[in-house]
Amino acid sequence: MIAKSIEKMLSENQEHFLIPAEMVANVQENNFLDHALLVLTKVRYAKIPVLDNDYKFKGLLSLSMITETMLGLDELDVSKLHEIYVKDVMETDMPTIQDPYDIENVLHLLVDHPFLSVVSNDGSFTGIVTRRELMKSLNHIAHEFEKDYTVQAIETKEEK
Ligand code: AMP
Repeated sequence: MIAKSIEKMLSENQEHFLIPAEMVANVQENNFLDHALLVLTKVRYAKIPVLDNDYKFKGLLSLSMITETMLGLDELDVSKLHEIYVKDVMETDMPTIQDPYDIENVLHLLVDHPFLSVVSNDGSFTGIVTRRELMKSLNHIAHEFEKDYTVQAIETKEEK
């Protein structure tokens, strides 16, 4: 369990965590990898969400998932990139979260994942929650906490 006071302050700030879908770079599952390679190179993110035509969340795609398909025995073969779809190589085994978020769960998940996709009940992609946005909120709490709460240290045995 996380401290109720921290949970409350994070919850109050939770609308700031979300980068809304319209601001998130994405590729479509039916794009060929050559197009996806261009998008990923252009946006300079390591990994981005994959959506379908109806804006439903399908998975994640990274540069390394694409380059792996290019690995030949002793050279890179780019010719296959126009034959393989994003959906053939994307990652689908990743956690997603729903709005309103369970803050404790989000904190745990962001330890291992740089961002989490927010997906509604019907599978629609709402946006992402990133480590950076959460760190901004934690930074805010670290500065503001003692304005809202009185904190009293519990004496340790050595101090007594
Ligand atoms: P950050 O915490 O800002 O470093 O973001 C962590 C990761 O989230 C990035 O490496 C990207 O994979 C992803 N990400 C952040 N912002 C965007 C965005 N606007 N569009 C797509 N992916 C993003």
